[in-house]
Amino acid sequence: MGAARVPRFADLTWREIEALPADTVAVLPLGAVEQHGPHLPVSTDLVTATEAATAAAGAVAASGAASVVLLEPLAYTKSDEHAGFPGTIWLSWDTLMRVLIDVGRSLAASGITRLLFVNGHGGNSALGQVANRELRRRFGLRTFFAHVATPRDQGGVPASGAEHGLGVHGGHGETSLMLHLRPGLVRMDLAERRVPEDLLAYEQIGFGRATSFGWLSSDFGPEGHIGDPTTATAEAGKELFEHAVEQLARTLVEASRFTTPADGAGALGARDRA
Ligand SMILES: [Zn+2]
Repeated sequence: MGAARVPRFADLTWREIEALPADTVAVLPLGAVEQHGPHLPVSTDLVTATEAATAAAGAVAASGAASVVLLEPLAYTKSDEHAGFPGTIWLSWDTLMRVLIDVGRSLAASGITRLLFVNGHGGNSALGQVANRELRRRFGLRTFFAHVATPRDQGGVPASGAEHGLGVHGGHGETSLMLHLRPGLVRMDLAERRVPEDLLAYEQIGFGRATSFGWLSSDFGPEGHIGDPTTATAEAGKELFEHAVEQLARTLVEASRFTTPADGAGALGARDRA
């Protein structure tokens, strides 16, 4: 990936924003500021979402495959599952929903028609799906919700087999990503394996199983992380990051030309927007 100049929404003038091509994809990184165990900074999801979105937008801008503009990241999101820990700054689900709707409304009023969320925090996913549809119905936006790494409890492939698919927070994958992106912020001397193997006793209920369950990180122990950071390496992180950027760049290009069968037939009427 070359170091392309990424067009940043916030650096443009209103005239430049007004003049953006109609198929421009606005990219909004969704981070989090939340505990990530004793070994990772609370900025972990903000760093991974922002870096991956920036690199993907830069690659697409450099290739000329689509028109893209990068929004400022949303640092605070729905981290209520980590509420008991110092360092977690979380928005209530209804606050975040209103923020996403207000941002979407403002973008639609600016002439933007396509919005891609690049999400670094699994706890935002369910709400993001609802926001996708709200923004589609209310403002006619084409909306897309992508992950830096699809969470294990949402069908993603585990980053490490040694975690038995249970490394959902601050484990091998995220720690490796941070060793690649911000090595100075990772405390590998404090990394400990915390894989909740008790969950393997259930067939129906669990991360990535047919039935999900409501959980708090404190359900798994006092340290806050869920997974095995001890196997993390910068090399694994580089590989995960480059794979994520490649996938996101492809997603961006698809989002710029995505249509549905009723497109152009006035599909989105007043009744849809009620
Ligand atoms: Zn995280």
